[in-house]
Amino acid sequence: MTTLRIGVIGAGIVGLSVARRLQQANVEVTVIDKELTVAAHQSSHNSNVVHSGVYYPPGSLKAKLCRRGGGLLRAYCAERRLPYEEIGKVIVAVRDDELPRLFDLAKQAKANGIPGSQVIDASELRDREPHVRGRSALLIPGTAVVDFRVIAEQLAADVVQTGGEVILGHPVKEIDVRAAVVHIATDAHERVFDHLVVCAGLQSSLLARMVGAASDPEIIPFRGEYYEIATEHTDLIRGLVYPVPDPRYPFLGVHFTRGLGGHVHVGPNAVLALSQEGYRWSDVRLRDVWRTARYPGTRKMARQNWQMGAREICGSVSKSIFLRRARAYVPDLTRTDLVRSGAGVRAQALHRDGSLADDFVIDHRPRVTLVRNAPSPAATASLAIADHIIGEMADNDESFARRVR
Ligand SMILES: Cc1cc2nc3c(=O)[nH]c(=O)nc-3n(C[C@H](O)[C@H](O)[C@H](O)COP(=O)(O)OP(=O)(O)OC[C@H]3O[C@@H](n4cnc5c(N)ncnc54)[C@H](O)[C@@H]3O)c2cc1C
Repeated sequence: MTTLRIGVIGAGIVGLSVARRLQQANVEVTVIDKELTVAAHQSSHNSNVVHSGVYYPPGSLKAKLCRRGGGLLRAYCAERRLPYEEIGKVIVAVRDDELPRLFDLAKQAKANGIPGSQVIDASELRDREPHVRGRSALLIPGTAVVDFRVIAEQLAADVVQTGGEVILGHPVKEIDVRAAVVHIATDAHERVFDHLVVCAGLQSSLLARMVGAASDPEIIPFRGEYYEIATEHTDLIRGLVYPVPDPRYPFLGVHFTRGLGGHVHVGPNAVLALSQEGYRWSDVRLRDVWRTARYPGTRKMARQNWQMGAREICGSVSKSIFLRRARAYVPDLTRTDLVRSGAGVRAQALHRDGSLADDFVIDHRPRVTLVRNAPSPAATASLAIADHIIGEMADNDESFARRVR
């Protein structure tokens, strides 16, 4: 049997999980990333939470792959002796009108098979999180924290140790899909593969255009900024404290996240970034701004959601507003407790009609597989996403199926 050559664009946690899985199937794998380190973007600028899967509609890819991926990740961390701390999460209702949504989430947690989830009352919440105020909460004891950058580094090491190649610091600039092979060119290399898997995160739509795919959905960058609680007051939070999500904007609201090592992050918010990889307000790239502004979906989304957008910008520029929102959960928090921390940029897939693509989106085309939408919880789900992609590739190609099954 001739060796199959597969290229993976993107050394984030999704691309590296795919590469490692392919390598196990005895395929010659080359991973290419434009940055000098692995996991340079979303996979290292995130909350590092191994999500339980409570938020996702039963039956969705997110629900299935998050549950399965969380289990695979836990086993992988144990096998590789990487930190994995189960610190538990509470989703807190601070107002009575949030209670029906909290109870709906509790039902969804059961439907998604999340072990140990239960609704607790205000006094049980106080026992668990003495500084957090709330009417009631949904407790998910198995939610864990990890370091996704370290996990990605280990995945890359696995790929290399088993004979794969990881090329860093070279952007893919051209892709030429032919009948029997696919040619790619970086600034320094030309390579020929039998198949290409594109896991390019914030640049997914750019790469999709290179292979001639439709520009729907388009990736719009949303920056999520964090504060950190000053070291002397991190005891205000013991685990993970999240709000009851607004179903229209499930990723918004003040989140308190105790990470490995005991630091506590507060955030992230979500503001439109002015560059595809814009970690600060001052990171502006006119080409990206123009592309975002010109896309019909952006204008429709802006018209439908301008109030929420304005609210998030206020929270970004005003510490007082951010503090007021955080104090709804932790009244003892003071202005000096909040210290500005880093930011991440979400790759948010947006359809032309202005609706957000919620679930994971993976397109299979002749010779190319495109991961078009892998937002949170894709880091949690990455190992399961890899199995899913390879399963679908095998369904589409009998000779590939013989190698991987
Ligand atoms: C603020 C924030 C908080 C989050 N919190 C969590 C969380 O707690 N738990 C969770 O499970 N998920 C979380 N997520 C989501 C998670 O981080 C992402 O879903 C995941 O990291 C996506 O991985 P990826 O490999 O698809 O993308 P990325 O990590 O962005 O990797 C894409 C890679 O492609 C490379 N690339 C792009 N274009 C090219 C090119 N032309 N040539 C070569 N290389 C290219 C980039 O350099 C990059 O390394 C969060 C995300 C954000 C932004």
